[in-house]
Amino acid sequence: MNVVSSVAEVRAQVKEWRRLGLSVGLVPTMGYLHEGHKSLIVRAVAENDRVVVSDFVNPIQFGPSEDLESYPRDIEADARLCESAGAHLVFLPRPEDMYAPDFCTYVDMRGLTEGLCGKTRPTHFRGVCTVVSKLFHIVTPDRAYFGQKDAQQLAVIRRMVRDLNFDITIVGCPIVREKDGLAKSSRNTYLNAEERKAAVVLSRAVELGRSMMEKGERSASVVLSAMKGLIEKEPLARIDYVEMVDAVSMQPVTQADGAVLCAMAVYVGKTRLIDNFIFEG
Ligand code: AMP
Repeated sequence: MNVVSSVAEVRAQVKEWRRLGLSVGLVPTMGYLHEGHKSLIVRAVAENDRVVVSDFVNPIQFGPSEDLESYPRDIEADARLCESAGAHLVFLPRPEDMYAPDFCTYVDMRGLTEGLCGKTRPTHFRGVCTVVSKLFHIVTPDRAYFGQKDAQQLAVIRRMVRDLNFDITIVGCPIVREKDGLAKSSRNTYLNAEERKAAVVLSRAVELGRSMMEKGERSASVVLSAMKGLIEKEPLARIDYVEMVDAVSMQPVTQADGAVLCAMAVYVGKTRLIDNFIFEG
């Protein structure tokens, strides 16, 4: 497995693979890799001849008051995890490799990006779409792998690929959880012991909402108030949002007719965590 930081090195490697007729998978990440990321890499390795993992804390998807500086990083552990998962190339650019000082071109989407996480993170998806477009142009993968954990991001990337005619198959992968149900996240390391225990309230709310819908409940307000009620009982938790939206358009629904996404962002202490489930109906 190779670790490279320049765009030119990635291009040269991919060109060589293409010459040999090999298919290429891409797993975009921000590093500090865990079992959730690993599941994406393992899937990519199973479905492609060669797999590139990008490891880049993308500055332009962080708002001014967010955790860009404190975002956890451990490049050596990341390389070990990528190697053990069977990846072939890790792309570890520096911010200056991705953004020239006079960088001024963005991919900006309207419609899917204003609600849910977009409400409190108004420039987040512009940063995500821009960096993912750049990675798609640099790596030119056949397939790219994204986690259902970031459900709005996955919907946004699918739409971007359709709207901008990227010839890339987007593969969504299930949420990998800790034993008690907490969705694995690089940000879980911010939690102290007490907060870590409290954080289980997110997956409990997911279980509650899902089981209500499996039993036949279709009213968004009934499902959402039960989920919110459960979260509000946890003193360390503060709700950012709990919402039910159409699974493709990300627009709020009052009644679950087709496939819907029930998504939440909840602060536990100062840490903002997300979780969700899709109900197909
Ligand atoms: P991040 O490093 O947080 O940007 O995540 C990189 C990719 O890994 C994204 O597509 C995430 O949705 C995915 N991912 C992160 N955590 C998990 C998880 N617990 N289960 C599945 N996928 C995940």
